[in-house]
Amino acid sequence: ELVVHDLAHRFPGTDVLFEHLNFTVQPGSTVAVCGPSGCGKSTLLSILAGWEKPYRGTVERLGITRTGWVFQNPYGVPERSALDHVVLPLLAKGLTRREAEPQALEAMGLFDLQYASDRRFSDLSGGEAQRLMLARAVCSHPDMLLVDEPTAQLDTRTAHSVSHVLGNLAGQGMIVLVATHDPDTRAACSRVIDLAEYAPVEGEVVE
Ligand code: ATP
Ligand code: MG
Repeated sequence: ELVVHDLAHRFPGTDVLFEHLNFTVQPGSTVAVCGPSGCGKSTLLSILAGWEKPYRGTVERLGITRTGWVFQNPYGVPERSALDHVVLPLLAKGLTRREAEPQALEAMGLFDLQYASDRRFSDLSGGEAQRLMLARAVCSHPDMLLVDEPTAQLDTRTAHSVSHVLGNLAGQGMIVLVATHDPDTRAACSRVIDLAEYAPVEGEVVE
């Protein structure tokens, strides 16, 4: 369970992004975090992951030991294969290559990427790279998956299928939070948090 209590954030010297944010997410839920560019969606995900310390408020990650993260911009090693990108974190966890490869391929299959397993990362399209990052995150079986704009580079059909997979993962007990502008992805989530509703009222000072 993820419990967010009276969260507010501002970076040093910047305006308050959001305040009075309260919500609880149960395992099995998908949550869309929406709002205009710059409203703090990516920042909220970093706070939920525990990377960024909130200006005010608390985040409790009850029973959440593994958090998976997919960045807004895919990153990888250009000359390494797509498959290697999913396999290497598993090897780092102590699996042998023989154990890791089928798991990696299965995760890539979820995002319809098996056909690209041998391609170099630098040859992948933007949407393929984005889906590869999803496969990699899912492969580590996180309790909570934080995904930043997963469908930004995808066509409608692929975006739809990614939303569907994220919903299925939640169905298996994961907490999935997705920062997104995409109305379809939003509609596919069990819950929507619109950060625009938590923007400070003009003139109000947050202490
Ligand atoms: P987008 O939809 O464009 O991805 P977003 O809602 O994810 O936007 P954030 O990346 O969370 O927005 O950024 C919120 C605001 O905070 C932006 O104005 C950004 O420039 C600013 N910001 C982000 N990180 C820092 C930082 N470390 N220091 C100062 N300002 C920052
Ligand atoms: Mg962002």
